[in-house]
Amino acid sequence: MAGKIKVLPDDVKSRISAGEVVEGPASVVKELIENALDAGANDISVSLLQSGMKRIVVTDNGEGMLREDAPLAVMDHATSKIADVYDIQSIGTYGFRGEALACVAAVARLTILTRHKSEAIGTKLIVENGKATVADYAGAVGTTIIVEDLFYNVPARKKFLKSLSTELRYCRSVFTNAALANPQVSFVLTTEQRRHELSRCDTPQERLSQVYGKTTTERCCFEELRDLQASVWGMLSKPDYLLASRSMQQLFVNGRPVEYRYLSFLLSKAYEAVAPKGMYPAAVLFLTIDPALTDVNVHPAKREIKLFDSKYIDSLIMHVARKALDKVHTINDNLLRQVQFNKEHTLEPEQTSSAEGIGRYGGGTANTSAENPLFPMGANIVREAEQFYKAVSAATDYLVLGQIFDTYILVQKKTELFFIDFHAAHERFIYDELKKREEAIDRQELLFPATIDLPSEYFFIIADNLDCFTKIGFDIDTFSENSIIVRAAPAVVGRIDEKAFLIEAADNIKQNNAPENVFDAIAASAACHSANRAGDVMTLRDMEDLAAKVFSGEHELRCPHGRPFVHAITKEDLERIFKR
Ligand code: ADP
Ligand code: MG
Repeated sequence: MAGKIKVLPDDVKSRISAGEVVEGPASVVKELIENALDAGANDISVSLLQSGMKRIVVTDNGEGMLREDAPLAVMDHATSKIADVYDIQSIGTYGFRGEALACVAAVARLTILTRHKSEAIGTKLIVENGKATVADYAGAVGTTIIVEDLFYNVPARKKFLKSLSTELRYCRSVFTNAALANPQVSFVLTTEQRRHELSRCDTPQERLSQVYGKTTTERCCFEELRDLQASVWGMLSKPDYLLASRSMQQLFVNGRPVEYRYLSFLLSKAYEAVAPKGMYPAAVLFLTIDPALTDVNVHPAKREIKLFDSKYIDSLIMHVARKALDKVHTINDNLLRQVQFNKEHTLEPEQTSSAEGIGRYGGGTANTSAENPLFPMGANIVREAEQFYKAVSAATDYLVLGQIFDTYILVQKKTELFFIDFHAAHERFIYDELKKREEAIDRQELLFPATIDLPSEYFFIIADNLDCFTKIGFDIDTFSENSIIVRAAPAVVGRIDEKAFLIEAADNIKQNNAPENVFDAIAASAACHSANRAGDVMTLRDMEDLAAKVFSGEHELRCPHGRPFVHAITKEDLERIFKR
């Protein structure tokens, strides 16, 4: 009986391995566009028939191929881009494996029309069933690659393809990503239905608005973060622009679109205060980093990339997203803009008489607070209010109305009513103050130094970072094997629950252990455990101080953990509610 095991013929072997690089039309489109970019093209056109299954044509105006090189281009592991294994460390081109064209040639009919800039006559190369024929080609400098009948000789492969419309969507996304990463190149995508043209752009921002449209880019902001080893730039949702899918989240690393599986997680974390469950921000981010810190050689289709210091990259991504959110949340940038637009309709507090102003909102007499549980201001506060009202209204254009639900301060400013979560606001101001005082510290000795026992994990985190606590204004030291002594605290912090503070600080440091974040972690925890708690009674003067800080435009209107603490309702909003 004859044996059952056979060695596969070479052409079958090559088709099997080609199937791993060429997953479908989108991966062919990706490889061909990348080759065009590597050839220095600045005009690239892609045309697809039946989602690329019937035909893919990619034309570029790059440098072209020499007659003698064209047949080599379709041989396995033939590349003009790296000479030896050491070059892989510093790849400046998209391609380097020299296998894409060989793989495509193994699973489709391939035609190359090309003319090198140094040659008068171009080359036409047709590869079918492993055989190549060469002829003259009279055309412009550049290259056209035609791929027909994908998988005609690997029927099994076709079973893994999705519907034509899904494959087309994949092709479009490859096209879009290439266009986003290369704004200086013009791109055209033609299908049976449509021609999509992206002209050359001067800036990446221009390309983003070409691709996503003006309405989308207006609902996003552009933010950049630079560091010594890397920088990240991109377009990020404003807090009110959220999508039901993650489809508009993409990371580029050195111009290469990559699937970074933590991107979405990081973005959700950064936006957690503003994004309800199931809603996602848009974020198209471009990371520029020393190529030595990355490895693109981990996936045959180069879709994934290994980042050697992913913690560092993660913190860059988080920070740029936070920065974008914070920018939108500063009062000058956003909340007050509306007030300016509505100037003509503005009701100035000065226009109302002082008695009416107070009476209407805060209660003109001592017992109004009892009648009006919405504004539980104590009698002395109401009296204080009367005294302060004139002085305050002369200097400012807002009126503090009182404290509600033991949590919010209500302020009327022109035609808007502001709700300020005062605990969160206070946290922010203390935090900002602590950060400012990293050098000149104003300390307050504790009457009785506090000795605090801590679980050993927390004890060691704090012991390792004592100098950071000192720089921010604490006088603390290790006391025994597992306890810390606190002798003084920064003056702005005021009273503090030392134990809760130390535990939270240790926890925060543990979570963001980059050295530059330790200060943030300590400042945020100190702010949190010192700030006025919801339920504390504030005097009118406290509230005035707080409002002044909110409207000064000097602070981000989010607590150090990222929660916004100001919400405005306009007069128009109310009129809409009351159908006036
Ligand atoms: P790689 O891009 O990894 O080098 P490919 O199989 O994609 O491998 O391409 C093989 C070679 O063919 C390239 O190194 C390049 O020299 C040449 N080539 C492919 N496409 C083009 C093009 N559009 N213009 C000029 N040369 C090309
Ligand atoms: Mg290539």
